[in-house]
Parts: sequence; C-alpha cells; structure tokens
Amino acid sequence: MELTTPSPNAGKSENKRWHVVIVNSGFGGLRAAQAFKSAPADVTLIDRRNYHLFQPLLYQVATGSLSPGEIAAPLRSVFSRQKNTRVLLGEVVDLDPVTKRVMLADGASIEYDSLIVAAGSQTFYYGHDAWREWAPGMKSIEEATNIRHKILYAFEVAERLSDPVQRRAWLTFVIVGAGATAPDAQERFSLDTPRRSRNHSARRCAAGTPAVPGGSLKEGGPFACAARCRSEERGHGQGH
Ligand SMILES: Cc1cc2nc3c(=O)[nH]c(=O)nc-3n(C[C@H](O)[C@H](O)[C@H](O)COP(=O)(O)OP(=O)(O)OC[C@H]3O[C@@H](n4cnc5c(N)ncnc54)[C@H](O)[C@@H]3O)c2cc1C
Repeated sequence: MELTTPSPNAGKSENKRWHVVIVNSGFGGLRAAQAFKSAPADVTLIDRRNYHLFQPLLYQVATGSLSPGEIAAPLRSVFSRQKNTRVLLGEVVDLDPVTKRVMLADGASIEYDSLIVAAGSQTFYYGHDAWREWAPGMKSIEEATNIRHKILYAFEVAERLSDPVQRRAWLTFVIVGAGATAPDAQERFSLDTPRRSRNHSARRCAAGTPAVPGGSLKEGGPFACAARCRSEERGHGQGH
C-alpha cells in the first residue's frame, strides 16, 4: 500500500500559499501551530501520535489516579476550528533542506517552505540503556501504563506474601530523579496507593503496618535535597 501526502497547494499553480510544516504535537508544536492561526499560510502538523499529551500529569496515570484519556486530547479536535491547519500521523525519519522535504517512515515525503522541528526529549539512562527494561521512563502513555502495571502487580504479589520483609520489598518503590514530578509521584505512593488498595484489592498489604507502601527519591544532582525537603514538609516523605 502506498501512502500519499499531497501538499495543501497540490493543483494550485498560482497564488501558492506559504506552507509551514511542524514536527511535534507537544506543547512546542501546539503553540507554534496556533500562532499561525490567522497567517496567510497553510500549516501541516506531523507527529507520530495523533493526540496532544499533557505530560505533567503522566505520573497520575502511572499511579492509577487518572486514565490515559484524561490527559490526551485528539489533535484534530484541538485544531477543528483552525482551517489552515491539517494534522498528519507519521514518524519523521529524515529531512532534506536542499529539496525542502521531510521524509516519513512509511516512505512518504512532504514539501515545506518553512520547517519547525521540536521533537521533544528522551529519558536518559546515563549510558546504561539496559536499565530501560527495569526502570521505564515516564514520557508517554505507554510508559505510564507500564509503570502502573508494575505497581499493581507488586500489590498483587504482596497480597499473597506472609513474610513482612518480603512484602515490604515488593511495596518499596524507587523514583530516580528529583524534579517537579518525583515528589508528586512519591506523594501519590504515600497517600493515594494505600487508600486505593484499602478500597479495592490488596487489603492485607495496606492493613498490615509494616507493609504500608513507600517511595524513595534517588537523584545525584543539587535539586535532590530541595525536592526531598519539599516532600517531607508536606509530611509524606520517606526519601532516603
Ligand atoms: C512526567 C513529566 C512531568 C512534567 N511536569 C512538568 C511541569 O509540572 N511543569 C512544566 O513546565 N513542565 C513539565 N514537564 C516538562 C514538559 O512536559 C516538557 O517540557 C514539554 O512537554 C516539552 O514540550 P515539547 O513540545 O518540547 O516536547 P514534547 O511534549 O515531548 O513533544 C514532542 C513531540 O514530538 C513528537 N515526535 C518526536 N519525534 C518524532 C518523530 N521522529 N516523528 C514524529 N513525531 C515525533 C512526539 O511524539 C511528541 O508528541 C514534565 C514532563 C514530564 C515527562
């Protein structure tokens, strides 16, 4: 199957409008596209996902407080009133600044007059990419639901253990990084998770005093202390 991506100017030989291609549907791409709302230009927004993800609340998906749909907005509905903007799902694999084209993984290419690339960032494992399997990052819905699965699975295992030491091990979570998200996530572990477990499954884990879940913040940078103190000031910290 060959996928075609005609330019918005296809078939127009005269009065060709300026074509802006934006690679990104995150905060950067969204803002950039919205800035062109009244411009005499056509805008094509390309992203490998067809929804805008509100990353700051990913930790709530990871800890089971929100469902993925609550932090994702379909791009076509975001831009439904912006007539000069179209949304394309695609993974950009290359750029050719000479012919002014972006190349997609499915073999299609798209012409541009101006190009904005703001493809975000990736979780860094300090050169130890093998850690990725055991310590997922938190930048996508998939990663957040993967973390949630691991947490809920830990509760299920702990529910069936009678040894309090083993149970505590399964209910101890380590958060690497101490930016804004980590203390918030730790707060969820300390407050929300036991409450949810009392209401639903793993009753024995939450009821047994030694098994109350805890989180630890791990971070080598200068912000670690500030983040830990902030968390402890709120009265939820168990940072080590
Ligand atoms: C868990 C978490 C909590 C955060 N909390 C806060 C907070 O409280 N306050 C705050 O100010 N900031 C916070 N941030 C940071 C903030 O979310 C980011 O700074 C912001 O999302 C970056 O926006 P961006 O547009 O640069 O990149 P992103 O939002 O990451 O968007 C990049 C987009 O590019 C797309 N893309 C990448 N490569 C390709 C490709 N090859 N082809 C097609 N598409 C591609 C991706 O699919 C993605 O949609 C948080 C981030 C995370 C992960």
